[in-house]
Amino acid sequence: MFGADSGGPFRGRFRGLFQGRLLDLVNDETPICSAKDCRAAAVWVLAWNNPKLHTPERRKTWLACDEHREHLAAFLGMRSFLKDVVTLADWERAAAEAQPAAGDSAADR
Ligand SMILES: [Zn+2]
Repeated sequence: MFGADSGGPFRGRFRGLFQGRLLDLVNDETPICSAKDCRAAAVWVLAWNNPKLHTPERRKTWLACDEHREHLAAFLGMRSFLKDVVTLADWERAAAEAQPAAGDSAADR
């Protein structure tokens, strides 16, 4: 049933969340690696940008487990898309600091 999952763990729900918030990738479920057919928990966040599709400040993110971090980073690096590789913990912290402390975590459902 889930074999045709080509869009990574995010599916459609995730796409719109980039509008204002990046933290939502760790909002509810355990984030999993973006590598094909991998279901391991993500440890790394790979931030990338395709200059042909995205404005320079835009960041797409892939999640990676320890095993696939190099593979995914190489894939993006080869295309000069890769901007940053940080641990998920660091990414969360940075995202949290970038947000106003509104305390209304349910407001963006
Ligand atoms: Zn993986």
